[in-house]
Amino acid sequence: MTDTKSWGSTEFWGLGYSWDLQWLLTPEQKKLQARLIDICQSILRDNAVESDKKLLFPRKNFEALASLGLLGLNVPKEWGGLGENHTCTAMVVETIARYGCPSTAMCYTMHVGAVAAAMLRCHDNPTLQDLMKRLDKEVLIGTLSYSDPETGSHFWYPVSSSAQRVDSGWRVRKKASWTTSAGFADWYIVQTTSPDFGGDYSNLSCFLIMGDEVKAEPSQWDGLGLRGNQSGTLEVDNVTVPVDRLVGPIGDGARSNDEVVDPFFMLCSSACWNGISLGLIDITKRHTTAKKHVDVGLRVCDYPTIQDYVGEAIIDTNTSRAFVFQMAKAMDELTNDCDWSIHQDISRLPRSTVLHWMWQVKFAAAKNVAHVSDKMLHACGGTGYKPALGIERYLRDGKAGWVMGPTNEVLRQFVGKAALLGFESLDYWNQAINERLLHNELKKLDKSARRELAEKLLAEAAES
Ligand SMILES: Cc1cc2nc3c(=O)[nH]c(=O)nc-3n(C[C@H](O)[C@H](O)[C@H](O)COP(=O)(O)OP(=O)(O)OC[C@H]3O[C@@H](n4cnc5c(N)ncnc54)[C@H](O)[C@@H]3O)c2cc1C
Repeated sequence: MTDTKSWGSTEFWGLGYSWDLQWLLTPEQKKLQARLIDICQSILRDNAVESDKKLLFPRKNFEALASLGLLGLNVPKEWGGLGENHTCTAMVVETIARYGCPSTAMCYTMHVGAVAAAMLRCHDNPTLQDLMKRLDKEVLIGTLSYSDPETGSHFWYPVSSSAQRVDSGWRVRKKASWTTSAGFADWYIVQTTSPDFGGDYSNLSCFLIMGDEVKAEPSQWDGLGLRGNQSGTLEVDNVTVPVDRLVGPIGDGARSNDEVVDPFFMLCSSACWNGISLGLIDITKRHTTAKKHVDVGLRVCDYPTIQDYVGEAIIDTNTSRAFVFQMAKAMDELTNDCDWSIHQDISRLPRSTVLHWMWQVKFAAAKNVAHVSDKMLHACGGTGYKPALGIERYLRDGKAGWVMGPTNEVLRQFVGKAALLGFESLDYWNQAINERLLHNELKKLDKSARRELAEKLLAEAAES
């Protein structure tokens, strides 16, 4: 297998192509990958250092991505996009994170998720169609605003939101605790309760909100890593938007979430965590093969311990990459290579059938990056601890993997609970009664306490 990976005018100093899953890519996708590595080398990587130091939003990097047509990566060719599939999308995000800038990879992940939410429901919506056709030409960056300050990482439960039908369209209210690219994005897909939700938080809707309709506080943003991703607070303060800013039908929020927002977020963010793991291994290779210990006449890479660290990091990271690409391929097959026309039938939701696999993908990639970043720091020693080598920044960036919703605590519970008790037991919107728990607690009450409780409940029922 050819191993020559270029880095500007020289050979790449990290792992060569023989450690990449190149056989999964088409010739066209490989060409795109090589061009993307070029702009990572010449533009994105230097900007990543600046973004991290100064908390700068990576707009310049997005301009470079737009020059390759990457803002419309999944937009059909006849609309000016690249018409690419899930496999290519995972490759692009991994490449940006590995060779360029993890903050840009995360902002791009949210952009891809927002494009997917728009493409899913654009068939009878001229406003969405027009936006999708202008992404690269005008560098129009999108993002997803879901998480609510009152419900934390339970981003599917937006209690500080509402939407109302008014004469000229919809009045939308949304408070978000975290939104990547907040205040810098040109357009947002926001999730709110539906106009007719009547207290049922599973009844959600999505709206397109433009950059000049949101209030953000970028000056308040700070974080351990991904410092360029600007995931600050966001408010849509009772803004009235035209009728066709509703994305899909009323009540489509949960469907859109399971079919595209979650699958694309988990695919791309996992590719981002794997890209960071690979970036760490690349730096470790460069450092440990260059650093010598004069007393014993050996380089750091000559110690078997260091070889073991790198070997294990490659094996674990490639296990995670194989899982990401396996699921990307599965979604390619399910959707005819990301053909959006299949969704003209709005009940076609093929990606939703593998959502529980995407939970596992994200868990594995986020867990791996935490481990690999520790081990690559150990392999590089004190030099890795200093910012100049780059290990320290990638380590901080990778820490976001575990805590980003769905968090790894939530995901392993989803998987274990669904496997043991069935999917219905997940009860996202707190609607199912746990009879076992209820009866067990009631058992603890004596006669008079039971009577007191019963009377209280009867009074409450009468009042309601
Ligand atoms: C860099 C970054 C970028 C982000 N970008 C976006 C974005 O673009 N859009 C967006 O909508 N959101 C975004 N988020 C928000 C993210 O998805 C989470 O909502 C957020 O990280 C939750 O933080 P919290 O402090 O509220 O955590 P909490 O929800 O309070 O969690 C605290 C702890 O409780 C655990 N926990 C929570 N629920 C359960 C449960 N049911 N079972 C077991 N354990 C549980 C968690 O796993 C965690 O360990 C971003 C977050 C980060 C870090």
